[in-house]
Amino acid sequence: MGTKASLSLTDSVLELSGVGPKVEEKLNRVGILTIQDCLFHLPLRYQDKTRLSLIGTLQAGQEALVEGTIEITQVKFGRRRSLLCLISDGTGTLMLRFFHFSRAQQQRLEKGTVLRCYGQIRKGSQSLEIAHPEYRHIDPDNAPAIEKQLTAIYPLTEGLQQRTLQKLATQALSVLSKDEDKPAELLPDEILSTFDLPDLVYALSYVHCPPPEADLQLLKARQHPTQQRLSFEELLSQHLSLQRVRQKTQALQATPMKSQGQLRKKFMQQLAFTLTPTQEKVLGEIEQDLKKDIPMLRLLQGDVGSGKTVVSALAALRVLESDCQVALMAPTELLAEQHFQTFSQWFKDMDVEILLITGKASKSDRDANLNVLNNKQRVIAIGTHALFQKDISFSNLGLIIIDEQHRFGVHQRLSLLDKGIVEDYLPHQLIMTATPIPRTLAMTVYADLDISIIDAPPPNRQEINTVVISNDRRNEISARIKTACDDGRQVYWVCTLIEESEVLQCQTATETFQQLSERLDGVQIGLIHGRMKNREKEAIMASFKENKIQLLVATTVIEVGVDVPNASLMIIENAERLGLFQLHQLRGRVGRGSVKSDCVLMYQAPLGDLARSRLETLRNTNDGFEIAEKDLQLRGPGELTGTRQTGLPDLRIADILRDARLLGDVQRAAKMLQEKYPQHVDLLIKRWLGKELDYSNV
Ligand code: ADP
Ligand code: MG
Repeated sequence: MGTKASLSLTDSVLELSGVGPKVEEKLNRVGILTIQDCLFHLPLRYQDKTRLSLIGTLQAGQEALVEGTIEITQVKFGRRRSLLCLISDGTGTLMLRFFHFSRAQQQRLEKGTVLRCYGQIRKGSQSLEIAHPEYRHIDPDNAPAIEKQLTAIYPLTEGLQQRTLQKLATQALSVLSKDEDKPAELLPDEILSTFDLPDLVYALSYVHCPPPEADLQLLKARQHPTQQRLSFEELLSQHLSLQRVRQKTQALQATPMKSQGQLRKKFMQQLAFTLTPTQEKVLGEIEQDLKKDIPMLRLLQGDVGSGKTVVSALAALRVLESDCQVALMAPTELLAEQHFQTFSQWFKDMDVEILLITGKASKSDRDANLNVLNNKQRVIAIGTHALFQKDISFSNLGLIIIDEQHRFGVHQRLSLLDKGIVEDYLPHQLIMTATPIPRTLAMTVYADLDISIIDAPPPNRQEINTVVISNDRRNEISARIKTACDDGRQVYWVCTLIEESEVLQCQTATETFQQLSERLDGVQIGLIHGRMKNREKEAIMASFKENKIQLLVATTVIEVGVDVPNASLMIIENAERLGLFQLHQLRGRVGRGSVKSDCVLMYQAPLGDLARSRLETLRNTNDGFEIAEKDLQLRGPGELTGTRQTGLPDLRIADILRDARLLGDVQRAAKMLQEKYPQHVDLLIKRWLGKELDYSNV
């Protein structure tokens, strides 16, 4: 294999044969830097080339390795020119079909030649066939042996060949088996036996080259004990690293907020409602933290519409009153702008300076903002991530509030934490999220945070009534919209697309806007999408807030945070394209007042099973936690879940939702390691989060 005997797992991939600077760069792009990283780049699926199937026994849909003699080869001219090659092994015939082929290739496929081929069997017009099989010529007197192990198929990255990845894995496995003086196993025997986990070398060898009898279904679903063992180790490292962050932040200083809360009374007087007991409770927890001289790191979890904003405003007030500055970060400009309006209203007459800081500010605005930040104490700066860019500096930052944290992700959260540290000082942090995740999950995902939960909505809320209808009944909806508007209510119409293409999304929204304008005489209609200028977006939102616009046609830009309590009807087109979390968030734009609200989920038939279950779940419940549980079940084993926009970490092997049932054990193992084997903790963190851990050099 040409692998140097002295290599170790943490050496660069450059050391492996077949890797030059070009391949290295491509590998780096998918996060493969060291030899060990090759081992943690797991196969996506497997091919079974360990047995020959008889052609007569083949079934459409399966992948199979067969051997047969060519009976006829011919070029067919039709809609598409193709080369057809019929093979037989005495038990049946199989057609091989090539759409791209060279003359030389064609000439070598002559009658009587024996081929061994692999591919997916499908039903052709006359017989079963394989399109573009992998094939090789066989000399019947000297046939090569078939594979002894299942063949791993790796997730590809542009420009990397499957063969390259397979060869790298083989080399890395041989390094692993020789790496005697630096044992790769980082889990102590006690952990392995307590949690019944196979050892690392076995697990890695198994997942890269499973034996022929391996359970392919289990492997595909990533539920095989060897894969679960790797997920376990990764989740454990994730958990440990967040706990490490926590320990380090607890060792830092924060400014204790001394104010007695005099402004609170004034604030409550002009507020249109009183706080619920739950809001009071979580505010109490936050205020306790703010009094301390260690930094608060608190997560405020509450379903969409549960009233987190007002709690954060009162926390901010406490800090401002103590003559410290506050930063409130929102994931979108639209939401930042809305918070700016709301807070300006709430904090009027309180001698508090309120700034709006987004990416597109002019130089003079920026200078003015900086001037305020440098010279005034009672300042709250509201904005997007632009708040924490290099050219912005706070003179006395006491509290950072992050709204809708799930839109930022774990890394952004941690890098912000890192930026906040000045010498051994860190501002308090309040992190808000609407992602309703079960407690065991929260304890790992947010292992660095204390958690406060708003578990009941404000009073007088009415359940949102959700209906699911097919897109072709969209005309019926016009009447509903008309009625809502005539009653003085307002409506959202959300256009979605499969692709994340903003251009297409805006185009669709624009077309829908035009159609609806023609159909709905007498209804004031507005359009908002991501490609509009900030000014335009602000103007549209302001008109909608003031009920000058009755129907707002929007892209998913309104997904987070937008709060117009008078809106009572939400229509989502092509709802089947969105995930449960996202739909729940969108629906949460209505049902924010005391009026009865409705949500219409339109879908494009035919609906797949999974999409159907998702829509049914939404029809059956408004409860975010219930929806989260259901989401876990629906994702089920084997589904590629994608944790994007849920605020959950994107891991290499584990999927925190799919593997949620490991988390109880992971938490117990973390405890055991910290108590009995602290020397393993660093090694584990380094292995799994090595390069990302820069932020917590706290
Ligand atoms: P979220 O938790 O999704 O951020 P918001 O803070 O936007 O929710 O609150 C949703 C709506 O509920 C807002 O219009 C807000 O003014 C209102 N609200 C919040 N708390 C109460 C309360 N205690 N009583 C009545 N309405 C409330
Ligand atoms: Mg909110």
